Order: sequence, then C-alpha cells, then structure tokens
Amino acid sequence: QITLDKYANKKPTPPPELNRQAKVVVSVPEIASAIINKQFTTYFQPKILLANGMIKGVETLIRWQHPEKGMIMPNDFIPLAEEHGLIHDITLQVLEMSLEWLQYWHAHGLNLNVAINLSSLSLADLGLVEQIDQRVSNSGITPQSITLEITETAVMADVALSLNSLARLRLKGFGLSIDDYGTGFSSMQQLARIPFTELKIDRSFVDGASDSLQLSNMLSIAIETARKLGLHCVAEGVENADDWVLLKRLGCDTAQGYLAAKPMPGDELIDWIKQNSKRLRDL
Ligand code: C2E
Ligand code: MG
Ligand code: MG
Ligand code: MG
Repeated sequence: QITLDKYANKKPTPPPELNRQAKVVVSVPEIASAIINKQFTTYFQPKILLANGMIKGVETLIRWQHPEKGMIMPNDFIPLAEEHGLIHDITLQVLEMSLEWLQYWHAHGLNLNVAINLSSLSLADLGLVEQIDQRVSNSGITPQSITLEITETAVMADVALSLNSLARLRLKGFGLSIDDYGTGFSSMQQLARIPFTELKIDRSFVDGASDSLQLSNMLSIAIETARKLGLHCVAEGVENADDWVLLKRLGCDTAQGYLAAKPMPGDELIDWIKQNSKRLRDL
C-alpha cells in the first residue's frame, strides 16, 4: 500500500535551524480518541479571483485542538492517521463540518465553493466515494459547490486506481483539483485522462516568482498547461503583491495565500470579506 510517507521521505530534510516549529509527537490512540471526541476543527482559506478580487471559494484545512498539546497542524498527524487506517473517518468529519459552514454561508447569501483535501488512500476506497456523495446529498448542497483536492503525487502513484474514484466523483458533479501541481511527475497524457476541473500550482513555484526568471518561466508553463487542458488555474502560497500582479499578468485565474488571508475559523469569514474586498480588488 502506498502512503504519503513514502513520498515525504524523498523530500530533503531542512537543516535544524530552519526547522523552527518542532514537530508535535502524537500517538495512534490519541488520534483515535480525537475522532471519537470530535477534537478536530476546520479552518478556511479564501481562494480569490485575480480578475476582480472577489472570493470564489475556500479551502478547508483541518486543525486538531488537542486538550493538552494545543493546536496541532495536519502535517503532524495526517500521515500517521493514513498509515493506521484512520483517515477515512477524519475525511468524513471534515466533510461534515465543511457542509455545515457552507450551509451557513449560503444562508447569508454567500455563494461559495468549498475545497476538501482527499488523502491518496481515499482514492482506493470506493466506499468513501459513496459516503461522500451521500453526505453531500443529505445536506442539500449540490456537488457543484464542492471541490476535492488530490495531490499530484497521490494521483500519479496509481493512475488506473485513482481514475476509477475520480471519474465517479466527477460524474456526480464534484469539482476535482490537482493539488501541489509541479511536485509530482504527471505526463500531459495522464493529466488529460483524468477529469480534473482545476489545477493548483504548488507554492514552491509561486513564492518569489516575480524575482526569479526561472520560477516565473515555470509558472507560466504551468498556467499555460492549465489553459490548454481547460482547467481553472489556482496559485497557492501567494505571499506578496508582486507575485500576485505577476500571476494576474500571466493569466492565472485564482490566488490563495497569506497575502489575501491566512486560514481562519469559519465564523470570521464574513467579516474578513467585508474588510478585505477593496484591498484585493485594488492589488
Ligand atoms: P495543501 O492542501 O497544499 O494546503 C496548503 C497549505 O499551505 C496549508 O497548510 C496552508 O495553511 C498553507 N499556506 C497557505 N497559504 C500559504 C502561504 O501564503 N504561505 C505559506 N508558507 N503557506 C501557506 P496546512 O493547513 O498546514 O496544511 C498542510 C497540508 O495538510 C495541506 O496542504 C494538505 O495536504 C493537508 N491537509 C490539510 N487539511 C487536510 C484534510 O482535511 N485532509 C487531508 N487528507 N489532508 C489535509
Ligand atoms: Mg489542498
Ligand atoms: Mg503545496
Ligand atoms: Mg496544495
């Protein structure tokens, strides 16, 4: 079985002085207990249309509010949860919380799309595909309001297997986003075979692109790839205004990153929109 860990191991380890945030150590029983006791919460990061600064949707990012250890970030427990068969229940909890917030925002006249991250293991789990679809149907939210983000490495690990789950989800109307694009090894042919609706360029190509010809060239190739394949193009990790302007000039559709907003609790989103629309439109 393939886990994200296998790929995580291939990444160079940052020197200790750069690895400022010490990893929180958690155990499998703690994760199991967090599922039962509903200790997970969802934060939301806006995805902003570059053309007019308007919010297109949000990405749900899980946080674990641990009673003793404080807030734990996904990279510190998702890989372990995947390895021990706990990701399925976590995904469903994240979906349920996201649907509740989406209902709340829709009730307030905000027609948002919400993006949920799917683990690579979920693609092998046809039961999960059905359960996602059922929960969305029961909520009265249309699948068109939900985007499922799957990392490029996860999809390419087993294209045939992923294709089955992804095609089913797409047929039901869910949006499909290829996350962290540029960090995996997808061929054009593979990309075209999978019914993606969105391509999300990894932040390693985005951050500082306005200062680097090499990065901006790669960025422009990725944006061009999205356009040729008819995919909505999102850049993640946009931290400064120069990169924002460059992305807009290169024809990227949407930006996500700290320049617009850090991930925030659901109850802060409406105020955030009121306070930031003008700033983003004027960038
Ligand atoms: P991702 O899906 O690529 O999400 C983007 C990550 O980049 C998030 O980290 C976000 O907070 C961070 N980010 C956003 N804008 C910026 C920026 O401008 N600068 C920098 N430096 N970082 C930025 P986070 O929340 O720690 O999540 C990390 C990863 O954990 C996510 O990467 C995703 O792969 C995974 N993850 C998060 N929530 C879930 C979930 O509910 N289920 C699963 N299976 N995985 C999740
Ligand atoms: Mg994502
Ligand atoms: Mg990324
Ligand atoms: Mg990403």
